[in-house]
Amino acid sequence: MRPRILFLGTGGDISLTGRDVRCSGGIVVQTQSCQFHIDPGIGAVVKAAAFGVDLREHTAVLVSHAHTNHASELGGVLCALSHNGLDPHGVLVASRSIVQGLHDGIPRLTPFLSSCVEKVIVAEAGNKIGIEDVEIVALPTKHSDSSAVGFRIATPEFVVGYTSDTLFDKSLVQFYKNCNILILNTLFPFEQNGEGLSSADVVKILKVAQPNLAVITHFGSKMHAANPLYESREIQKRSGVQVIAAQDGLCVDPVSYAAELRQTTLSMFKESFE
Ligand SMILES: [Zn+2]
Repeated sequence: MRPRILFLGTGGDISLTGRDVRCSGGIVVQTQSCQFHIDPGIGAVVKAAAFGVDLREHTAVLVSHAHTNHASELGGVLCALSHNGLDPHGVLVASRSIVQGLHDGIPRLTPFLSSCVEKVIVAEAGNKIGIEDVEIVALPTKHSDSSAVGFRIATPEFVVGYTSDTLFDKSLVQFYKNCNILILNTLFPFEQNGEGLSSADVVKILKVAQPNLAVITHFGSKMHAANPLYESREIQKRSGVQVIAAQDGLCVDPVSYAAELRQTTLSMFKESFE
């Protein structure tokens, strides 16, 4: 399988996803041998089919937190993955709010849905989780779902970071370093603030994190109105980092942005023969 990162949706608030202006089906990360689905929100099942992703092939489903645009179609994805529970396989890595419930004390994950996978892992910030040849680290966030986590996914071919929903905080930026590709949930344009990152916050993060490529996604309605394409160009100009504004269906070839990783691997290889 040729590695790729596929965006099944780019909507970050219900006024967009509820009217299908943008959907929020999540992000699919494919390596040579594994397939991960991050945040299966509104549209996850139909958009996976539309963009040629076979949900039965999922190695793991990663859910950063329990908000609608991140988790509403977790049930549909787990049923499709396991053929309605008849063929359980794979791993669910999810926030405490998904597995155990949080504010209302009611777990979002039913016993039936738990039985659709081989293993359920609660992702707490700082946890390292190994799945086949991939290492996933759960990253801290500052969000209204206090158990929300981001993810750093290190594969043999590339490293991708995902902020999930979070406010900007200086202490979080260190966790976004050393990623080839960094995906940032950018709810607000420049000059706007709210419960999430703005374009100005993204500039501050990128100046320190310095990924080879940044992808902004999960847009709120004000960001949508401001035009993410324009915002991405402005972020690129101010940060000096290459930035793409995701669209529903965007496909990124992560290996082409992993030049440094390849160089490191090559020099290690060279050293061992000198
Ligand atoms: Zn959220």
